[in-house]
Amino acid sequence: MAAVGRRMYERGFVIATDGNLSIRLGPHRFLVTRSGVCKGSLTTMDMVVCDDYGRIVRGHKVSSETLLHLAAYYLRPDINAVIHAHPPLAIAFTLADKNLAESRLPEVVMSLGSIPTAMFAAPSSPEGAEVIRDLIIKHDALILDRHGSLTVGKDLTDAYYKLERLEFAAQVTLAAVSLGEIKGLSPEEIRKIEKSIEFNRSCSLPRCPSCGEPLHLSKSVFCSQSGTESSIKADTERLANLVQQIIKEGRM
Ligand SMILES: [Zn+2]
Repeated sequence: MAAVGRRMYERGFVIATDGNLSIRLGPHRFLVTRSGVCKGSLTTMDMVVCDDYGRIVRGHKVSSETLLHLAAYYLRPDINAVIHAHPPLAIAFTLADKNLAESRLPEVVMSLGSIPTAMFAAPSSPEGAEVIRDLIIKHDALILDRHGSLTVGKDLTDAYYKLERLEFAAQVTLAAVSLGEIKGLSPEEIRKIEKSIEFNRSCSLPRCPSCGEPLHLSKSVFCSQSGTESSIKADTERLANLVQQIIKEGRM
């Protein structure tokens, strides 16, 4: 975690004490960066173990964006790491009211699909978990409107590479726009890419316990073969209740 934090800081994806990283340690246990520390010089003292309600198990004060991380873990049982950063060019796109999802750079589309922008939520507010809910289920990289980014992965390196790709997409798109009109992908080219992405994703998804077919991550985890919902259903309503409960108890 310290090595990834250093890379983020050195690449300018975070400044000062911005951003936060986390990993899933096991059932109901997460390692999260401490509040108010520079990600360029993390030590073991800057890491906190918490449960899935953000309650501290070991260490001191969790990051203010922990609820954002916990929401991502709750909705994506397939991920083990989450990174929230402030990549400057990606943020600039939202300040200028430009949507990076329209940038159809083939290499980025192949690895991330599109990069949607979540609705505005004040940084460090519980609203952050609400606005990402419908997007994080289908996307590994999001831009938070006029705030930053959220990337998830099978491990911290994977989530970090997605952050690099997200900012790279912003860099290339900005350069292309300055040169003239952007050449988009044709519908046929997009279809080819999406087909390949769908194939790759289906290979890594968990299997249905009854028929063995890959489960599809949508609003709920659903098996198209047996027609039955899996027991690992990602219930967005339960997340909403969790967020409300935490707000009510004033724990974040
Ligand atoms: Zn932030």
